[in-house]
Amino acid sequence: MKIDITGLLSTENLIEDRRAEMGLSLVSSRMGEFPIKKKLPFTLHLENQGNRRLLVSGETDVTVAIPCGRCLEEVPVELHLTVERVISLEDAESNEDSGEDGAELAADGFLDIDRMLYDEVMLAIPMNVLCREGCKGICRVCGVNLNHTSCSCDRTVLDPRMASIQDIFKQCKEV
Ligand SMILES: [Zn+2]
Ligand SMILES: [Zn+2]
Repeated sequence: MKIDITGLLSTENLIEDRRAEMGLSLVSSRMGEFPIKKKLPFTLHLENQGNRRLLVSGETDVTVAIPCGRCLEEVPVELHLTVERVISLEDAESNEDSGEDGAELAADGFLDIDRMLYDEVMLAIPMNVLCREGCKGICRVCGVNLNHTSCSCDRTVLDPRMASIQDIFKQCKEV
């Protein structure tokens, strides 16, 4: 959602606490698409610091579904998001929608909460998420989830460590 902060922008040294809802239900990036399963209302602390600077701070928790790095099953991961930034009002007016600093504040005085939190979610998403310790992953031959079922495929040559050794041999031959 976007919140109207025109009043705050025009009054130096004004402090406001506002409640906001995150409108995002999905974040997508090069790493994939991550549905947002749960979110809490977000209390924002806003401060017009004078000199055309606006301080925005706040915290919230969201639960994002991230695929397990081995079996790809969705794992709910709770992320604690902390926002703390100072936006230059000059930047906000000059580079609207350029994706640079201050882009979350539009020239019309609306602060884009979703845009701000989107960045925080992207930063907070952990790289190696596993559904459980020792997840057995997916059979590389037939594709079954080995946590739920077993198969009789011969995976010995497709062991990831072996596969990387095979790659090295291949590269040696190609050179
Ligand atoms: Zn897994
Ligand atoms: Zn199999």
